[in-house]
Amino acid sequence: SIPLSFFGGIGGASSRGILVKGSNYLEALAQTKYVVFDKTGTLTKGVFEVTEIQPQEWITKEELLENAAYAESYSNHPISKSLKNAYQKEIDATRVSDVEEIGGHGVTALVDGRKVAAGNVKLMKKLGLSYEEPKNAGTEIHVAIDGKYAGYILISDVIKEHSKEAIHGLKKSGIRTVMLTGDSRRVAEHVALELGVDVAKSELLPADKVAEVEKLLEQKTDKEKLAFVGDGINDAPVLSRADLGIAMGAMGADAAIEAADIVLMDDDPAKIALAMKISRKTLRIVY
Ligand code: ADP
Ligand code: MG
Repeated sequence: SIPLSFFGGIGGASSRGILVKGSNYLEALAQTKYVVFDKTGTLTKGVFEVTEIQPQEWITKEELLENAAYAESYSNHPISKSLKNAYQKEIDATRVSDVEEIGGHGVTALVDGRKVAAGNVKLMKKLGLSYEEPKNAGTEIHVAIDGKYAGYILISDVIKEHSKEAIHGLKKSGIRTVMLTGDSRRVAEHVALELGVDVAKSELLPADKVAEVEKLLEQKTDKEKLAFVGDGINDAPVLSRADLGIAMGAMGADAAIEAADIVLMDDDPAKIALAMKISRKTLRIVY
């Protein structure tokens, strides 16, 4: 049987926007020694601003952005939403077909009958295309049209208001903090340094994130728990693999909310430390 105070703990958490799916997860929270974060949409807002549009000679800036926005029009990725925002005009869905989203790479689609690819350096390499190396830092979206490199768009994300305090609070409680991201090394290093995470790994595919979590799981003892925190896009496998899967609820994909053990309704990473505090208090009452 489950001690009554567990319900108090779960109820107390839920009134603060922290949904705990079972009392065993409250116990796991209190034993957490590693917190592994996804970057985009978890520690950062996932709302990117376009900072530079750099087309090749044969195409204009407007056309480059238009093709990228159209190719991305069916995707829910924060990058896609940001490109559609930057484009500003209404998207005519009848101009787009054959959309394919490639996790950790980007998208391909037929736009006005031409094959448009929009994504990172990995996507260009996969398509066997050479690309221009940006001078400025930022998240890179390279675009190719009918197998011809068309240029890149640089976008930049913003760190969430409470991320630094969240990382700091966890470290102070003796928890090891890790950031895993599919984004470029330059961007990852900037965010990691700003937030003070203990370890940061970049340019990871969704499967690589699972492998990184598995490595950490091997290093720790059974009593020490590992939590993974993600916003949901491509995160379901790694959320299930962790001892404790924590999903951001407001932006999170349905698959992630289902795979998660705990859901943070308002996307605030500082809620993790609060959840731990509630769990430790609950366990003190129970035992
Ligand atoms: P993160 O680990 O930062 O949450 P993802 O695993 O979702 O990021 O994506 C990793 C990288 O793959 C992104 O930084 C981006 O370069 C590329 N990418 C993924 N989806 C898209 C997309 N829809 N359009 C363009 N690039 C994408
Ligand atoms: Mg993500």
